[in-house]
Amino acid sequence: MTPAHFPPTDTPSAALSQVTLRYPKGPTVLNALDWQLLPGQVVGLLGRNGAGKTTLLETLLGLREPEAGTVTLFGQDAQHLDDATRARIGYVPQESDLFEAFTPPQLLAYFQSFYPRWNTAKVEGLMSRWAIPRDQIIRKLSGGQKQRLSIIRALAHEPDLLVLDEPVASLDPTGRRDFLRELVGDVMDRGATVVFSTHILSDLERVAFNVAFLSQGRIALQAPLDELLDDVRAFTGSVTELAGLMARLGLQPLKRTPLEAGRERLLARLPAGVTLPTGLAADRLNLDDLFTELT
Ligand code: ADP
Repeated sequence: MTPAHFPPTDTPSAALSQVTLRYPKGPTVLNALDWQLLPGQVVGLLGRNGAGKTTLLETLLGLREPEAGTVTLFGQDAQHLDDATRARIGYVPQESDLFEAFTPPQLLAYFQSFYPRWNTAKVEGLMSRWAIPRDQIIRKLSGGQKQRLSIIRALAHEPDLLVLDEPVASLDPTGRRDFLRELVGDVMDRGATVVFSTHILSDLERVAFNVAFLSQGRIALQAPLDELLDDVRAFTGSVTELAGLMARLGLQPLKRTPLEAGRERLLARLPAGVTLPTGLAADRLNLDDLFTELT
């Protein structure tokens, strides 16, 4: 049962509004960014290296204070979370500083002491399934084993919002997607929200139901992956013809690229059942193309 002081479940797990963040003497990484993560959503955050994925996830978690805009987690200001709300969040950073001289069970026992809720059966199950050595100190574990341990630590208190920054970066390519699928399945069973960043597209297939593209400091687009693959089309035609088409269908271009001779290439989501004028090219895009065009 949800304790009475928690906001109702339609409150976004995380909400960012008009968030701007610039590093001192550095680039503006987040630029009036709006983003919402809802209960039950599994979101893959896509962006090129350096696009600002880590910065965005840290800002979402309240670890970085934006220059402008608001960030809330379960309806609370991310900079001033109470303990109960903090306990609803799990975070796996890109590089975890696990206590290197502890064994995995010692580490987990330590973290357990901070959380009112802790699923020992799940921890034991994952330790066995993911083959984490119990008697070795953490320093001697492989990169992939450390990453898995860090994920077990973040899952153990059954967070309602799980944030993972490149969670499979240290795993070998063959196991990445299966591992992510298992991880996400575990969290989804509870209707929690999961967001994980990646710049590797194959990680997303059959794992992320939603994808969010981070580009130029904003979420350029977020939608269910299968819908995007069905709906997004690249139109090529004269600028006037395409402007007329967009107006007639009430579509917002996602991206426009000028071509020579008054022509352009334009990306937009095409609603189902629309018949296009004959002679107009409207190509589907695969995930690789979407990534290239939108990030
Ligand atoms: P991503 O996770 O998508 O690779 P990051 O959030 O790590 O991107 O970085 C976004 C941009 O901000 C990059 O240009 C990076 O060089 C810069 N950056 C990241 N962290 C810092 C920092 N602590 N100080 C200054 N610049 C930073």
